[in-house]
Amino acid sequence: MKQPKVHKIYNPEAECMDRETRRSLQNKRLQETVKLEYERVPLYRARMDARGVKPEDIKTVDDLYKLPFMEKTDLRDEFPFGLLAAPKRDIIRIQGSSGTTGKPIVSGYTQNDVDVWTEMVARAITAAGGGPDDIVQVCYGYGLFTGGLGAHQGADRVGAMVVPMSSGNTQRQIMMMTELGSTMLCCTPSYATYLGETVNDMGLKDKLKLKSGCFGAEPWTEEMRQKLESLLDIDACDIYGLTEIGGPGVAFECLEKHGMHVNEDHVLAEIIDPVTEKPLPYGTPGELVFTTLTKTGMPMLRYRTHDICTLTDEPCACGRTTIRMSRITGRTDDMLIIRGVNVFPSQIEACLVDLEGVAPFYMLIVDRINSTDKLEVQVEMTEEMFSDKIGEIEALRSKIADRIKSVVGISAKVQLVPPKSLPRSEGKAKRIIDNRNLH
Ligand code: ADP
Ligand code: ZN
Repeated sequence: MKQPKVHKIYNPEAECMDRETRRSLQNKRLQETVKLEYERVPLYRARMDARGVKPEDIKTVDDLYKLPFMEKTDLRDEFPFGLLAAPKRDIIRIQGSSGTTGKPIVSGYTQNDVDVWTEMVARAITAAGGGPDDIVQVCYGYGLFTGGLGAHQGADRVGAMVVPMSSGNTQRQIMMMTELGSTMLCCTPSYATYLGETVNDMGLKDKLKLKSGCFGAEPWTEEMRQKLESLLDIDACDIYGLTEIGGPGVAFECLEKHGMHVNEDHVLAEIIDPVTEKPLPYGTPGELVFTTLTKTGMPMLRYRTHDICTLTDEPCACGRTTIRMSRITGRTDDMLIIRGVNVFPSQIEACLVDLEGVAPFYMLIVDRINSTDKLEVQVEMTEEMFSDKIGEIEALRSKIADRIKSVVGISAKVQLVPPKSLPRSEGKAKRIIDNRNLH
């Protein structure tokens, strides 16, 4: 019999705590986090001072509305270490994701933060039916992106056998999956669907031992869930997270598949009206805002995710008492998620600005072909380029493609189009055509 890794098994009681006990824990942790942030992070202290808010003014979760927000631009402006609340020597890990321009945004994790994150993912894997008897194949990318390492740590914590495949190389993924008898998958839902289609094409479905998986890092729909579940004959659970708040596992679905349980002892979730910035009640869609309660490396107070969803406090049949968030139904900004990577039109713009021969007009066209996202970038040439330098077009095109690959981190098909051929708009420029139908 496999020896259970007893020292690593987490304590699930926090998920089933009665709500009053949890609320007082949150109040205490909120006070500590606000104090830490005020004392250690100059930007946030200045922001609180400007509002005339002192740490003592925040006594309970009901005082949250008094606090100023934080944004992705803060992480960019304070890149890389300006928002650290712990001394650099206590930071044991850097994780990152793409920012709004060329630079990535990074977050620093203390040992405590890695432990908390691990615990959150362990809960997610457990809720999807995972445990010490499972073989968990992780095909999220390993690296700065939180997906790979996050899922790995969580699967390790529940005592599963972890197969750290990282992303890509579908044939090898399938070979390992069938040979090892992997029982769980962790990857993006679109990649899982692609794996499922390939397994079916190869006639290998009968060889699979998969039972479930945690799929996230990008938006998906109920229809996609049904397709994925029947392709691989599994239970497909959603998992949500973001680097700034601690990576995947911030919220996750249980096997009831009825919204994602928020790890409320570690994060506070609010929904606000993105325009008035006022808090909205449960059940009303709006922008999701998070406050970390236990992070010590780079805590976040009222961090605006720009993700749109609803929250509910209705009880779940699984017995967990935490609130749940719905699927993400959209964004309040223009961020796209392409093959799990955050992509902002401003990043593409940054790749074009100083290039001779292109005009500042471009269009991003996203399609999903065979469950894989394809990005096409159309860029207008200048009149001069178009009429006099036709021989240089190919060189320019590949230069743009290389830049996009290095700045954004994904391959795009670049097309140079004639001057004035892209649509002009009177108001805010429309720069995205997303044909994926994700919401
Ligand atoms: P992750 O590694 O979890 O994708 P990033 O920081 O790279 O973290 O990206 C975070 C963003 O990814 C979120 O703000 C959200 O827009 C999107 N995202 C993550 N998980 C999900 C999910 N399950 N459903 C929809 N969107 C998701
Ligand atoms: Zn549940």
